[in-house]
Formats: sequence, structure tokens, C-alpha cells
Amino acid sequence: MYSADIQNKTLDIIKNSIRNVPDFPKPGIQFKDITTAIKQPEILKEILDMLAAHFKSQKIDYVIGIESRGFIFGTALAYLLNCGFVPVRKPGKLPADVISQEYALEYGTDKIEMHKDALHKGDRVLIVDDLLATGGTAAAAAKLIDQTGAEIIAFTFVIELADLGGRQLLENHAEVYSLIKY
Ligand code: AMP
Repeated sequence: MYSADIQNKTLDIIKNSIRNVPDFPKPGIQFKDITTAIKQPEILKEILDMLAAHFKSQKIDYVIGIESRGFIFGTALAYLLNCGFVPVRKPGKLPADVISQEYALEYGTDKIEMHKDALHKGDRVLIVDDLLATGGTAAAAAKLIDQTGAEIIAFTFVIELADLGGRQLLENHAEVYSLIKY
């Protein structure tokens, strides 16, 4: 177990490795680019080790990764937690029968899908994405999982944009754990 001091220094190093790209994909958005973090082997390892350390004492059957950056952290985390990985994808990508969930965007709606037979009642799952903003995407993933009867143990993110209220939206479903806060 890390001392709090070493842990805080490691989190600062991770934070400094994330590139901020102003006005992407549209004016006013400060895009948090994780590619500059994960190309560094020691940073990628620290991120995954810290996430895994937080959840290793909890019995988790499946990590649910949200397309597409949730896949990067989700599969590696599933490996470290000795559990399976289930993808939640954008519409039309999964080959077999799916269940789907619509959710509201700033303008219009979007949809996510998961294979119908991916989860069953009683499965214990951890939902993973790279970043928590308004929480709309993760909340939609939670509704999708609720359709299956599986139990959501927690949501986890590398980055949390704390002013956007995502945590408040998700916390009544399950624990929310993020490494880096802005
Ligand atoms: P939200 O549903 O508002 O919580 O948005 C979360 C999703 O949008 C995640 O899949 C993120 O990858 C992406 N996202 C939202 N805002 C940003 C941002 N500022 N930088 C990078 N990705 C973002």
C-alpha cells in the first residue's frame, strides 16, 4: 500500500501527463487527452495499478467498458482483477442480439448497446470510462445494466470534471471512484 504522500505525488505526475486541448471537438471544450499519459509505460501501469488496488478486495465478475476509451482501461483492469470484460458500444457495432439505452445529449439523443446475453441477474459489475463529465453516458450504461438484473458495484474513471455534476448523478446508483479531479 502506498503512503498518502507517495500516492499524491503519483497522482500529480499522472495529472501532468494528461494533455489539455482547448476547443476540441468544439469551441469552449477543454478536451482531456489521455494519449499523452498512456504512451508512457510507467504512467499506464500506475493508473491501472491504482484502479485495481481500489477494487481488488471486492468481488467483481465483469468490468463493463464504455466505447471507446473505456475499452483501453477496462480490459487491462479486468485482467488485473481476474474478471471478464463486457463492451458497451455505439449503435450498430455489436454483431449479436442487443439491448439498448437512449440518453440525452446537449442537442438531441444518443444510444448505447450491449449484447443481450452478456450479463445475468446477480452478476457483479464495475463500469469504467476514461472521464466523467455530466455523467450522462455512465448513467445510460447503468440503465442498460439495470435491464439485465446485474448489480452495479461501482463506477470508475481516470478523470473527473468535478464541476459538471456527474458524481451527484451516479452516486445514488453506486460508489464513484476517480483518480484525477479537475
Ligand atoms: P458525460 O456523459 O458528459 O459524463 O461525458 C463522458 C464521455 O464524454 C466520456 O466517454 C468522455 O470520454 C467524453 N468526454 C466528455 N468531456 C470530455 C472532455 N472534456 N475531455 C475528454 N473527453 C470528454
